Amino acid sequence: MRVVLKHLLCILFLAAFVTANSQTKTATSVVPSKPKLVVGLVVDQMRWDYLYRYSEKYTTGGFKRLLREGYSCENTHINYSPSYTACGHTCVYSGSVPSVHGITGNEWYSYSEDSSVYCVRDVKYQTVGSSSVQVGKVSPHNLLTTTITDELKLATNFKAKTIGIALKDRSSVLPAGHKADAAYFFDSNTGSWVTSSYYMTQLPTWVSQYNSKKYADSMLAKSWPLSLASLALYTESEEDFQPYEDVLEKEKSPTFTHRVDSLTRPVTKILPYTPSGNSLTLDFAKATVTNENMGDGKVTDFLAVSLSSTDIIGHKFGPNSVEVEDCYLRLDKDLESFFSFLDTKLGKGNYVLFLTADHGAAHIPDFMKKHNLPGGVFPISEVDSLLEAGIKSKFGVDSLILALDNSQLYFDNERIAAKKVNREELKSYIKTFSLQFPGVVKVLDMENLSNELLDENMKQAIANGYYPKRSGDLFLLLEPGWFEGMKKGTTHGTIYPYDTHIPLVWMGWKIKHDEDHSSVHMTDIAPTIAAMLHIQEPSGCTGKVIEGIFKK
Ligand SMILES: [Zn+2]
Repeated sequence: MRVVLKHLLCILFLAAFVTANSQTKTATSVVPSKPKLVVGLVVDQMRWDYLYRYSEKYTTGGFKRLLREGYSCENTHINYSPSYTACGHTCVYSGSVPSVHGITGNEWYSYSEDSSVYCVRDVKYQTVGSSSVQVGKVSPHNLLTTTITDELKLATNFKAKTIGIALKDRSSVLPAGHKADAAYFFDSNTGSWVTSSYYMTQLPTWVSQYNSKKYADSMLAKSWPLSLASLALYTESEEDFQPYEDVLEKEKSPTFTHRVDSLTRPVTKILPYTPSGNSLTLDFAKATVTNENMGDGKVTDFLAVSLSSTDIIGHKFGPNSVEVEDCYLRLDKDLESFFSFLDTKLGKGNYVLFLTADHGAAHIPDFMKKHNLPGGVFPISEVDSLLEAGIKSKFGVDSLILALDNSQLYFDNERIAAKKVNREELKSYIKTFSLQFPGVVKVLDMENLSNELLDENMKQAIANGYYPKRSGDLFLLLEPGWFEGMKKGTTHGTIYPYDTHIPLVWMGWKIKHDEDHSSVHMTDIAPTIAAMLHIQEPSGCTGKVIEGIFKK
């Protein structure tokens, strides 16, 4: 029986081989059996509606091409709290949530270090590529799972080339994963692309040569004028000057033309605050594909690019500003150029690309107020002081709260026990105390989240952000349109749709054109890439494959 089975298997194997061979032969003339290169584009702070808001002014080859040729998951949401940059980039590439991958914020309170720690900070390593000592002290050591880029390495016996690129270190390091060939980020002190000694001991010659050309300086010399002929053409934005917009460093008014060439010194420090930050990133991405021969080998390579200036500009001026509109019109042109570069270099249909975002953004609260729309700024520092005083007067003990970070209150549990404070009474006091402030929905007990009365999806999103070793004991839930912090400019971080609804469009290799309105989560991106490449999903993946992409 065993022999017969073995024989049968042999025949099956032979049949499969013949079929696969004939399929490959026909396929190579049309579409290769696997993409030469995967390109991930994460546009920092890109709200889903930006795909459409400015579309009348977009070129045919940028965002419009993505929507015309690609597969758009129109209903993609972030399913965890907080919707911050580090969590977003990690989720896209790990297919997982902070409760599993451990990146619970851009920074979080560390109980062991009794201070806030930055997600990718790692003092064991040095800057490679510039004399800025602190810039390169980073690694992915806090990331507890593999990424899709790591899995591609594992699946190809480490032959695939995987590289991360972003102005922000965290947006390069976390997507690139643990086994990346490189994660490049921008040293704004010197205007150079640098990396960490985690990856290499010296920059490749081509990167040093690229840096020596000083592209950042020449881009900034053109300053930041309007890209359209006049302000009147920016019909999707309100008037250029608004009192609730923030200003660029050393600039007096938040208005065009932004004379960035005459602002802060060194001038390269201002680059991330201008659309030139995106232009430089995509230009460097092109140089990386060319010089690293990405997509030229026998196995699929992976280029993870993040565009950070969209976020930095968005924070300063808000979603209804001329600056954000101009930034997206310029990015659209840069994307058109990037896509046509990839077509020429690799062949249209030989690479697969996805564009998404790490989070969206709220409108500026004073803009909302002006239009009688709900929203506000929650004065977190004042509330923190009042809470400290309230706890002291009620329980007779001070300093029971170690930190207030990422909307969470971290208890000093040792002190609470030592001073014999009843923990449940303390929680109950804080819950009642917080309700006196406008903008507060409620304070949630993270240990007993299942017993809290709240919409199940919201509760799940908050639970998905809870990793006990790096999270607090209580969660401060604000009303929609509210955020902690500053009066000028805006931010993100909540579990509401303006922060969580992100674009997700796929284009290229075997991707058909369609518009998919089914519910997709950010966690679904990595397992979908895994399915395309026939490789394992990342080690902590909680997402599911987006089936519609594969339907014939
Ligand atoms: Zn941001």
